[in-house]
Amino acid sequence: MSTSASCPTCGVSSKRVHSLYERMLADTAIAGRSSYVVLQVRRFLCSNTDCERRTFVEQVDGLTKAYARTTPLLREILEKITLALAGRAGSRLASTLGVSRRALSLIDKYSGAAILAQSATRYRQAVHFQAAALVAVISRQTANR
Ligand SMILES: [Zn+2]
Repeated sequence: MSTSASCPTCGVSSKRVHSLYERMLADTAIAGRSSYVVLQVRRFLCSNTDCERRTFVEQVDGLTKAYARTTPLLREILEKITLALAGRAGSRLASTLGVSRRALSLIDKYSGAAILAQSATRYRQAVHFQAAALVAVISRQTANR
């Protein structure tokens, strides 16, 4: 992993780590169980004194986006379900595919998904969910590596 990251506002590279924190992304199911990717990310201090942004969080190429709560693959699946189906059919398919409750709660963020989100809520109220499998992908780095 790189020892530096570029500020998304000014583009200047920084090696000054401000802090570390854990992100949890809902992912596609494993063996029918909801799964999550848990990773530790670094918050950097922007090195450009003229930049309006003081800190920023590194992104993992192909995996994370700012403020995203799902992996790209799960996001793509949810978007396709939302576009292809609506209401209970979409909700049933998503749950059959092992989409986590957390991810189902994000469906309403996609356009035209209000009906599906309502069905997901009813589904969550009616069904006892099994404990979610946790897939931990933890990248531990210190500021000086
Ligand atoms: Zn900056």
